[in-house]
Amino acid sequence: MDYLEGLNKEQRAAVEQMTGPVMIIAGAGSGKTRVITYRVAHLIRHGVDAFNILVLTFTNKAAREMRERINHLVGPDAKNIWMGTFHSVFAKLLRVEADKIGYPNNFTIYDTDDSKSVIRAILKEMSLDDKLYNANFVYNRISAAKNNLVSWQEYQQNPQIQADDFSSGRGHLGKVYENYVNRCFRAGAMDFDDLLFKTNELLKNNPDVLNKYQHKFKYLMVDEYQDTNFSQYLIVKKLAAVNENICVVGDDAQSIYAFRGANIQNILNFEKDYPELKVFKLEQNYRSTQNIVNVANSIIANNKEQLKKHVFSEKESGDKIKVVRAFSDNEEGKMVSESIMQERSSKGLKWNDFAILYRTNAQSRSMEEGLRKLNIPYKIYGGLSFYQRKEIKDLIAYFRLTFNPNDEEALKRVINYPKRGIGDTTVDRIILAADKHNLTPFEVILNAGQYLEKAPASLHSFSTMIQSFQVITKNQSAYDAALHIAQHSGLLKDLYEDKSVEGLNRYENIQELLNGIKEFSEREDIEEKGLDVFMQDVALLTNDDNDKNKDADTVSLMTIHSSKGLEFPQVYVVGLEENLFPSQMSLNSRSDLEEERRLFYVAITRAEYKLTISYATSRFKFGTLISCEPSRFLDEIDAKYLELDFTARPAPSGGSSFNDERNAWSRPSTGGGDSFSRPKPASPVKTTSVLAKAHVPSPDFKPSDTSNLQVGMEVEHERFGFGKVISLEGNKPDIKATIFFKEIGQKQLLLKFAKLYIL
Ligand code: ATP
Ligand code: MG
Repeated sequence: MDYLEGLNKEQRAAVEQMTGPVMIIAGAGSGKTRVITYRVAHLIRHGVDAFNILVLTFTNKAAREMRERINHLVGPDAKNIWMGTFHSVFAKLLRVEADKIGYPNNFTIYDTDDSKSVIRAILKEMSLDDKLYNANFVYNRISAAKNNLVSWQEYQQNPQIQADDFSSGRGHLGKVYENYVNRCFRAGAMDFDDLLFKTNELLKNNPDVLNKYQHKFKYLMVDEYQDTNFSQYLIVKKLAAVNENICVVGDDAQSIYAFRGANIQNILNFEKDYPELKVFKLEQNYRSTQNIVNVANSIIANNKEQLKKHVFSEKESGDKIKVVRAFSDNEEGKMVSESIMQERSSKGLKWNDFAILYRTNAQSRSMEEGLRKLNIPYKIYGGLSFYQRKEIKDLIAYFRLTFNPNDEEALKRVINYPKRGIGDTTVDRIILAADKHNLTPFEVILNAGQYLEKAPASLHSFSTMIQSFQVITKNQSAYDAALHIAQHSGLLKDLYEDKSVEGLNRYENIQELLNGIKEFSEREDIEEKGLDVFMQDVALLTNDDNDKNKDADTVSLMTIHSSKGLEFPQVYVVGLEENLFPSQMSLNSRSDLEEERRLFYVAITRAEYKLTISYATSRFKFGTLISCEPSRFLDEIDAKYLELDFTARPAPSGGSSFNDERNAWSRPSTGGGDSFSRPKPASPVKTTSVLAKAHVPSPDFKPSDTSNLQVGMEVEHERFGFGKVISLEGNKPDIKATIFFKEIGQKQLLLKFAKLYIL
């Protein structure tokens, strides 16, 4: 068949293996996602009903793109495939089956802010110290429990968990978890983790429902399988149990969500779960040049935990990987922007051909500044979602409340916005009364005279208003209803009266949301287009899903995490500095460091033809200028693949006082090891430079065992030279030593990584 010609032998074999359990664990760019796409098309061509296919992707965007391609291969049947992220697919399923678990079908999805707000309210009520019980911490703890399918009851009964919580002084966490679950239930709300947790619960406790979906989803496919957590693993396993037509693809070397509970064990379990498993190997990388593939391979080889696999490219060897050094983050932004400008015009490329990837969102600032100065159009992916803006959340809260008046977070958000004289004390009293009488806050408001001693009249008009919205949404189109709510809630007027630039901006955002709803209500490809349908998945949408100008020619900026699965002709990976990438948090354990390295592997393997890596030797962090050391990952790349651009000169002030460990790269090689010592800087910097101060270690330099290091001891550091220990802090194995070095001044080092010789 023609369309299978776009596949190599192994890919084709995987596509043609239509039944039974199939697993493809293969390197980046080897066509895993392509195999899934073609496999779905192949199934449909072989008479499988699109309704019987479930494809789980990593982002909504990936699902949309896949659907387009399948549509191209097999026609409009593609629209009937259930395809999307775990969260969006199972939110859809839960809406159908909600009553089985005691939820209303129009349940609200609480986003992270809502969840934390619930937690804060609970902590306050329980009078718990919000430092010890920090809301983020508590949220993560509950999230981890849910993703491991530990209910609050199990949490409270588990001796190990209880012992851990008590010993850290947080013995009430189990109770907080219980209250949180009850509070969400009362509000008819599910948080993100519930979408998976409750799906598991539903399938476990309702054999008929499980049976129904096992027969509906006769064919399952999961992309990016390496990043599934236990809860996701179990849903897939349950759904596939009858037909066992399950195909998963992934790459253990790209597992980058362990911090959120993703479990590499799921790949290993897969082999145990399905003894009949057919495993396909894909080794050829079709995305990148040989140099890029080789560098990626050499980086990942430093990880101890990995499934060995061979990846090669038959493309040209390609340009070397360029390493750019800048003396500040702003200069880094400038150099990257100039390079993009230059590459684009000399090679006749489009802005779309370029991506800038960074470890943390904060790094986008200096990049944006550089791009703006050169008038380069760009788009930031995965930033603050349109739907996360205050004014948008406010209006959406009115919608939420209209469809689900029990939604407590929505209620708290708008009960006194715009101002209508219902103060915090009144709200507190409403919630207290709700707790006492086992009602929802909205029920208390409806009967305020009965449950509250002093009920302001405005409470009555508020509840009448919400009830009038309920009538409107039943009788009018999504757009008309939304506009009505925006006007009659007073929100539009409030924003209109604010004539500041920000106020104007907010007003325009509301207009944009209303336009979006209008477009939605005029869509021809869907039947249900009420405001309630529009609202259902809003909480799961990201910035990238609201992409009005998706065809615009712009440079893409995003974190490495959100670049997974994507590809660009030219990629700039910026901020290759110790404590930034690898991140400071990762330096405490080997497994965390390995995750950072996998992240670097993901970044590198996004590039098709040209890869540029940059770092700055100083950077603003929390308002102060700090000096930075080049990332250890740079040292892990064989110099033969690299081309160094050290043309930047230190800034007239500041730059020269920084003492950057691996600026020592340009010192004459002392033999072996340091791949960066070989190439000379393109333009050597003179005496005042930091380079001149690089320390050449004594010939017999050998790092000592530092476990007995004490304040006052004299030491020699491989690169910083001679110094004296001023203080030691922290506990083993994370002791930090502050050392005063004769040549470069004070530095704080993590002992387990510092190469020190005790004199
Ligand atoms: P990642 O691990 O980054 O998710 P992947 O394994 O999913 O990568 P794909 O994105 O499916 O890889 O493929 C990488 C690129 O190679 C895509 O542009 C794809 O179209 C192309 N490609 C894959 N297989 C072939 C092939 N047999 N012939 C031509 N191009 C191919
Ligand atoms: Mg892929």
